[in-house]
Amino acid sequence: MKCPFCNNENIRVIDSRPAEDNNAIRRRRQCEACGRRFTTYEKIETIPLMVVKKDETREPYDRSKIEAGVLLACHKRPVSTQDINHLVDEVENEVFNAEKEVSTTRIGNLVMDKLKELDEVAYVRFSSVYREFKDVNTFLKELEKLYKGRK
Ligand SMILES: [Zn+2]
Repeated sequence: MKCPFCNNENIRVIDSRPAEDNNAIRRRRQCEACGRRFTTYEKIETIPLMVVKKDETREPYDRSKIEAGVLLACHKRPVSTQDINHLVDEVENEVFNAEKEVSTTRIGNLVMDKLKELDEVAYVRFSSVYREFKDVNTFLKELEKLYKGRK
């Protein structure tokens, strides 16, 4: 990538977030040479954001997995769908700032931080289950079992 003003190739990313339609990532960039800022949009399909699991294997980032985990943790709690969406948006903003790879541990910690502010019970549920498991898939399965057993 080159600076559109001076053609310099040293560009710094100062902010990354999903664009409003969620199909693209909006990045604010700053040229190291002339200091001018510009915005780029990248289609989500072209961005290989990978999630690194604890066993070092990788899988493509999947928002629905985070949503499912938070949704389960908030089961029968006074938390709206809007709150959950907002929480996942916030997690995504930070995850996308991590550029190409992000660990499941980092995602889990972000979710825990934000759940803590939103609902204490959901936070305790999420963290007690999450800390035990190797990856999000196992975590979701266990959490589902937990709720099925309590019905
Ligand atoms: Zn420049």
